[in-house]
Amino acid sequence: MDVKKVLLVKYGEISLRKGNRAHFEHRLLDAIRARVSGLGGAGVISVRREQGRFLVENTEGDLDVAAVLPRIRHIFGITGFCHAVKTTARDIASLCEIGRDFFVGQGFDDVTFKVETKRSDKKYPMTSTEISMEIGALIFDEGFAVDLHKPDKVLWVEIRNDVYFYIDSEKGVGGLPYGSSGKGILLLSGGFDSPVAGYLMARRGVEIIAVYFHSPPFVSERAEDKVRDLAAELAKYTGSVKLYSVPFTEIQLFLKEQVSEVKLTIFLKRAMLHIASRLAEQEKALCLVTGDSVGQVASQTVHSLAAVDTAAALPVLRPLAAMDKQAIIDIAQEIGTYDISIRPYEDCCTVFVAKHPENKPNKGAIEGIEARFAGELARLVGEALGSAEIYSV
Ligand code: ATP
Ligand code: MG
Repeated sequence: MDVKKVLLVKYGEISLRKGNRAHFEHRLLDAIRARVSGLGGAGVISVRREQGRFLVENTEGDLDVAAVLPRIRHIFGITGFCHAVKTTARDIASLCEIGRDFFVGQGFDDVTFKVETKRSDKKYPMTSTEISMEIGALIFDEGFAVDLHKPDKVLWVEIRNDVYFYIDSEKGVGGLPYGSSGKGILLLSGGFDSPVAGYLMARRGVEIIAVYFHSPPFVSERAEDKVRDLAAELAKYTGSVKLYSVPFTEIQLFLKEQVSEVKLTIFLKRAMLHIASRLAEQEKALCLVTGDSVGQVASQTVHSLAAVDTAAALPVLRPLAAMDKQAIIDIAQEIGTYDISIRPYEDCCTVFVAKHPENKPNKGAIEGIEARFAGELARLVGEALGSAEIYSV
């Protein structure tokens, strides 16, 4: 009897978006294939679509699930994984034995169960209930009690071209396939917020190009290392991340001369958006992404955000806008960026700026001031962008 371990991969939301469905499925298939190739040992790992889900199997026997799962667990768009066995056997006697052996082989201790059969092959000569009862009887004989209403465990049996058995399913990260929603420029600093913002947008399918504004010698080189480590952590989910490290010191010194201390943060933020907008044009990105959260600090009041935003040539997405600090930290911990963000290094925006910056800047006034030195600023922006370091993480 041929029985082999396989993985069934479920994807959710993409089936809602009918027009794009095939496109999304292909992206997801490509992402999975890219990450499992070479893990097949003597065989080849095949990943294909089968009636609304993906089947991952080794052409030569059991799939090494312990090796495959860590590679694909973080792929956006996947809603769940079922550790299953697959057989080409179809006669009920064989199915009963396979079902029983699979259930008993889980090593459960004193659990109640039921068998639930789904039959997409309507030509199969028994009904779903009959199949469930036959298989259930053999498991019952092994000493497990049946509970049809609130079982501890459900053995699922799916009769398709082949027959599949599985018990629990493990949750995936959900979201939409990476890159299916266009590109965005993520302003990535070393703090807690921006990596979480990048993660949340990537999870909605936005391909992330990261930009970090670096101000040596006011911040140490290790601040840049920290940002590269954060980008690497995001790459666990996205596959890779392109990171621009843009020298910001000259712009910072220039703005310090031009504007009052209480307004400096606003102008620094505007300069960042100017640069990010130019980068978006180069990279054909459609939006900018920041880690601002309304009210967290003076530069993140709605007044400040309004005064900053007119510097952007594209929509600025702020997925953390409505979130409390603790909720952001919780996500940072969950996705693995917390331990990196917590390392102590200065951010450029804390150098030279006032302890109590203006928190209700007037948008029109800010634009009026910037107009006085816009030409020189544009020149510095171009220069900074021209001497950016590019890393592929
Ligand atoms: P974070 O925790 O992301 O550092 P923050 O709470 O320190 O944010 P701000 O310093 O006001 O808040 O920065 C707000 C947003 O501006 C950041 O989330 C980030 O998107 C962007 N930003 C700030 N400094 C930089 C920088 N040096 N390089 C790139 N982006 C930056
Ligand atoms: Mg910061």
